[in-house]
Amino acid sequence: MQAWESEEFPVIVSARGTTLTDADGKRFIDGNASLWCNVHGHRHPRIDAAVKRQLARAAHTTLLGLCHPGAIELAERLAAMAPRGLTRVFLSDSGSEALEVALKMAFQHWRQRGEARDTFVTFGGAYHGDTLGAVSAGAISLFQGLFKPLLFPTVQVPCPYSPRDPAAAAIRTLAALKKVLRAKKKRVAAVVLEPVVQGAAGILPQPPGFVRAVRDLCSEAGTLLIADEVAVGFGRTGKMFACEHDGVTPDLLALGKGITAGYMPLSATLATEAIYESFLAPWHEMRQFFHGHTFAGNPLACAAANASLDVFRLERTLERLPAKVAFFASRLERFRDHPHVGDVRSRGLMGAVELVAKRPGTAYPMDLRMGHRVVLECRRRGVVLRPLGDAVVVMPALAMDTRTMGRMFDVLEESVGAATRA
Ligand SMILES: *Cc1c(COP(=O)(O)O)cnc(C)c1O
Repeated sequence: MQAWESEEFPVIVSARGTTLTDADGKRFIDGNASLWCNVHGHRHPRIDAAVKRQLARAAHTTLLGLCHPGAIELAERLAAMAPRGLTRVFLSDSGSEALEVALKMAFQHWRQRGEARDTFVTFGGAYHGDTLGAVSAGAISLFQGLFKPLLFPTVQVPCPYSPRDPAAAAIRTLAALKKVLRAKKKRVAAVVLEPVVQGAAGILPQPPGFVRAVRDLCSEAGTLLIADEVAVGFGRTGKMFACEHDGVTPDLLALGKGITAGYMPLSATLATEAIYESFLAPWHEMRQFFHGHTFAGNPLACAAANASLDVFRLERTLERLPAKVAFFASRLERFRDHPHVGDVRSRGLMGAVELVAKRPGTAYPMDLRMGHRVVLECRRRGVVLRPLGDAVVVMPALAMDTRTMGRMFDVLEESVGAATRA
């Protein structure tokens, strides 16, 4: 807070496409997609119109005991497009909540099947949100540290990425997972994974086949796989859902961020029929899922989400991605030989440039806030980005055209040069 108070920060008053405008009229390229959630650009006419239409009907009615057409339509569409077998949809307001719901559902599912499985297996570097259950499942010490006494214990296997040898890291992780699942046999409620890319850890990609291997180990052990696609869902990695890269169906799937194209807070937890069925029983058995947020499935948010799915189809958003992804990856690669870049990582339209004091892997002193410095240089030059430590994250809306992307990378190159020279 002290650093924040001493700095100038833009006050954004409007946005259009991939451009933000602040109170002084200065324009910025939004390279952060408004924290990884904007998909089709700001003020997309079709999404704006859908929200306005819904506003003329009702801004909010509850999903507790009632329903509304937008929620029904969205649930049907999500179930139809998600990996086969995920037939049931539970709506909440944020990614963290979608994860909390998945954790509680997994736990309750096993209780209702008469199995005392209460252990969750997580991965080093995992991030699943900021509420306490989601923090428990996470594994970033910066976010957990102080709160440790409030968290439930998990079993953690190593992070599946290392800059030195990514393939070896993934194999080591799978071996550890296999061992844990054998040792804890009937105790594991679920394995919780950010499939394909761990986001908040610094955009750490997994090799092809990794998600499939985790799925197979879960199936062998008879336990559940919770896929947290809050960051990677809705086209971010090049496919609608990241699990599709390996043809995997998780037992529970958490969606958030891009679900409304970045318009409004909404999230979803998808479940298999088998999980759904364990919640069915005569009333007195109390197998209800006692969980419901006031604004769950908000009608304005559902209108935005449904309109976003229309835009995916009408603008052929996914079909047009490969050319953008190729351009994005090639521009990121140009950082690889920079004397102050230790690692470059990307998958789809999510990327990171890891800054180092000395190659290959000598970090800058934390007090220097080098990632932040680069981001300030970018901002001065009209590009909004955000660092994770000393990794500068590049996360444009899927709608960003390659010309704008090119300008964004030009600015990032200049800014890395300026900050690391200083
Ligand atoms: C952002 C994120 C969350 C949390 O979502 P919120 O909407 O911020 O609560 C959970 N998991 C992953 C992988 C995320 O990137």
